[in-house]
Amino acid sequence: MNDVSVLFAGTGGATPSTHRGLAATLVADRRSGVLVDCGEGTARQLLRAGAADGLTAVLITHLHADHWLGLPGLLNLLGEQGRREDLELWGPPDLRRALRRFVAGCTKPPFRTVVSELTADQVIELPTWNVTALAVKHRGRAFGYALEERAGRRRVVFSGDTAPCEAVAAAARNCDLLVHEAMFLHEDARRARETAHSTAREAGLLASLAGVRLLALTHLSGRVRARDALAEARAVCPRTVVPRDLDRIRVPG
Ligand SMILES: [Zn+2]
Ligand SMILES: [Zn+2]
Repeated sequence: MNDVSVLFAGTGGATPSTHRGLAATLVADRRSGVLVDCGEGTARQLLRAGAADGLTAVLITHLHADHWLGLPGLLNLLGEQGRREDLELWGPPDLRRALRRFVAGCTKPPFRTVVSELTADQVIELPTWNVTALAVKHRGRAFGYALEERAGRRRVVFSGDTAPCEAVAAAARNCDLLVHEAMFLHEDARRARETAHSTAREAGLLASLAGVRLLALTHLSGRVRARDALAEARAVCPRTVVPRDLDRIRVPG
């Protein structure tokens, strides 16, 4: 059996807090390591988790700074570690241009970064997974990602930053793990609408209706206490967890 684990390298939203770094989640198995988002500080988080090698691809959900500014540092770290294999970077339109601007000032890594820009519903093949880009409801072009194991049945779905959205709900139907943002609590529902984010309750409702096996809330604002988010989501979806930075969840086969 191919063990699949999900490492929550950074679980904070928008700005880092004392306990939570910026968006980064690694799906690892024996063939591949797929990093979804790479907020500032991700390189160090992966080092702390002993998970920096074995990375095969990075999927960026959107180009808000808290989701990708850690890429230059990560490329630098991988170069220092002696990586020589290509690294695939996938993301929304303009990823290439954004990277060129920021990575230009950095030391050129001793490996090739292959950058590809995705369109909605595009399916890409990574070593273990078929990955579908989900068009979500955020500010500007933003994707969630659905990872579907080719040789097995496991499915892991990422919402990225989004208001509750049909594309995520459909992809998450009966999935093993839904990693959904919960930037706000219900008391800030109006703010969630204005900024195109979700509340913990909304994430719970969506997960419950979709029949997901486990919901993991992430991208918590520094003002949201984990226990409040957990209580709010669990009231509608008992199968909910709120991982801390560097927590791992094993996805059973
Ligand atoms: Zn964000
Ligand atoms: Zn965002």
